[in-house]
Amino acid sequence: MIKDNIKEINKRIKNACKKAGREPGDITIIGITKGVDPYTISEALVHGIRDIGENRVHEVQKKRLSVMPGFKWHMVGHLQTNKVKDAIEVFEFIHSVDSLELARKIDKEAQKAGKTIDILLQVNTSGEEAKYGVRPEEVSNMLREISVLSGVKVKGLMTITPLAEDPETVRPYLRSLREIAEKIKEEAIPNVEMEFLSMGMSQDFEVAVEEGANMLRIGTALFKE
Ligand SMILES: *Cc1c(COP(=O)(O)O)cnc(C)c1O
Repeated sequence: MIKDNIKEINKRIKNACKKAGREPGDITIIGITKGVDPYTISEALVHGIRDIGENRVHEVQKKRLSVMPGFKWHMVGHLQTNKVKDAIEVFEFIHSVDSLELARKIDKEAQKAGKTIDILLQVNTSGEEAKYGVRPEEVSNMLREISVLSGVKVKGLMTITPLAEDPETVRPYLRSLREIAEKIKEEAIPNVEMEFLSMGMSQDFEVAVEEGANMLRIGTALFKE
């Protein structure tokens, strides 16, 4: 089942790449495994998925040891500062840094643990009140403040699009994230890389590919029955 889902997703990514003049090999699927049992997650490894993402620290602590080793674990959900210490034990990559306070806390705990944690800054491209993330106009200043922290390494930007029946309705938000990343690249802030754009979920990953995403966070389309 997962095998077929992955095949289907890869086919759709390939088509979107063709349309956009991009290489499928430049795009990483991050399987979002919240609510998925360890056995099923492990099956995804067998079929070529190497990156998985979760949105709750506690869930990962519970099931991580039952999942086949070999995955890189990504944190994609809102992270409370009091969970940071636990988070950096289990996650190598944090997509959801949405405040300076959180970045500083990750830096502090990472330094204590002798690690550098790769992070993305989460941007609220849609302006929805309920969404976490930094406002687009705050991104540059916040990255400058984060860039001096040696326990974290900024690798790019992430956004969560609003629910939409028609993926075309979220294209402006996806495009906006790419444009912000391009602008930041031009600013050439030391210690800040814009290597990754984490955007696109089951509902809109093809449009995300067309708009430049190279980390797709796909849950439902990957693990559905
Ligand atoms: C659940 C989740 C996803 C995956 O959503 P699907 O619609 O199941 O593909 C992606 N990103 C985040 C932050 C999520 O919480």
